[in-house]
Amino acid sequence: MALDTYKTRGLRNKLVKLLENKGVTDLSVLQAIGKVPRHVFFETALLEHAYQDKAFPIGEGQTISQPYTVAFQSEKLEIKPKDKVLEVGTGSGYQAAVLLEMGAIVYTIEYNQILFEKTRKFLPEMGYKPFFFHGDGSKGLPAKAPFDKIIVTAGAPVVPEALTQQLAEGGILIIPVGNQEKQKMLRIRKQKGKLIQEEFDYFAFVPLLGEQGWKK
Ligand code: SAM
Repeated sequence: MALDTYKTRGLRNKLVKLLENKGVTDLSVLQAIGKVPRHVFFETALLEHAYQDKAFPIGEGQTISQPYTVAFQSEKLEIKPKDKVLEVGTGSGYQAAVLLEMGAIVYTIEYNQILFEKTRKFLPEMGYKPFFFHGDGSKGLPAKAPFDKIIVTAGAPVVPEALTQQLAEGGILIIPVGNQEKQKMLRIRKQKGKLIQEEFDYFAFVPLLGEQGWKK
């Protein structure tokens, strides 16, 4: 595992400044991104890639999301310490690590068996301990519902009903919805049992697979 050095801390501080310049204001998000050593999530530990604001392949045709995307989704979730959060799409575990740094209790589900096994082993070695699940997160995680917050880190064709059902009262779901090229970021709040939707910019995620996602 590549060590955190003066150089990597410096690169990370630059990334935090860049995210601030792009409009991220939530201090807990910026602090979390400032703490999680993103270069360690890269197979080849290529520093120049790790701290650029870019998505990057993590194997199995999947990606570690762009830092701005991680910051944007995390900010829109309005995380409070001890919030019970479901993440759909564990991938490299980077987003889960950021949420844990923000004080959330994280349940994360991954569909791809190889990535699931890899991240379940790797992330706790770094001191990040979400609850790991393997399966189709487009159906949520009914056995552990309800959740204060749900974050979907893959592009969905529709908002899966299972996810809004598994939101607690007052809860927030953040999910990119669209076609396989680009998706609009949606935030859905459950207030007095009703769903209130807000729309943000377009992003480009790998597809959400599964029953309420895209068919392979
Ligand atoms: N959050 C990840 C990170 O921090 O590295 C990035 C996630 S990557 C953009 C999307 C992930 O969603 C992939 O690992 C993919 O295998 C996973 N995925 C796709 N469909 C899924 C589903 N139905 N349930 C759970 N995970 C799914």
